[in-house]
Amino acid sequence: MVSPNEIAALAAKKEKENYTFRTYLKSHADPKKLDRQFLKLHRELFAKYDCNACRNCCKRYCGNLSEEDLPGCAESFGMTPEEFKTKYLHKCEDSTYNAIHTPCDFLQEDGSCMLGDQKPDSCADFPYTARPDRIGSLYSIIEFAAVCPVLYEMLERLKKEYGFVYRRR
Ligand code: SF4
Ligand code: SF4
Repeated sequence: MVSPNEIAALAAKKEKENYTFRTYLKSHADPKKLDRQFLKLHRELFAKYDCNACRNCCKRYCGNLSEEDLPGCAESFGMTPEEFKTKYLHKCEDSTYNAIHTPCDFLQEDGSCMLGDQKPDSCADFPYTARPDRIGSLYSIIEFAAVCPVLYEMLERLKKEYGFVYRRR
């Protein structure tokens, strides 16, 4: 697996190749089969990977909470939702709430998240490779592969499964 510190530089070198692979998948992959392939790789690779030793996603992005997430998160901090919002969040245009800073304010030194089990689905599901309709999200997948070493590895394995060979022009 590529080191979290090296992933951005390596993915930048592979950017054209990965976008060419995206185009290839769009025209060659069966959407349901591709979802199954992503799900299998997601389960297999994340089972063996310690995300707390990476946390590139929490450093590059920040937590995004819905209104429904607020009571549970606030309670785990011993605060009311209003107090929690005022101290930790700002409201986005779509009426969700982001942590104020990036890297995320809830990221701790040891790689754990201060929100614990209350972390929002948008964090827990990253890089979304266990979700359906991956064929419609391949742009995001290529973008996230420059952040997430596990997703980068998934793409490399998928290239082999599809017999995809990149030829520079
Ligand atoms: S999901 Fe990916 S980017 Fe986030 S911590 Fe795990 S390996 Fe790193
Ligand atoms: S809320 Fe937690 S899991 Fe989500 S980005 Fe912040 S530290 Fe990471």
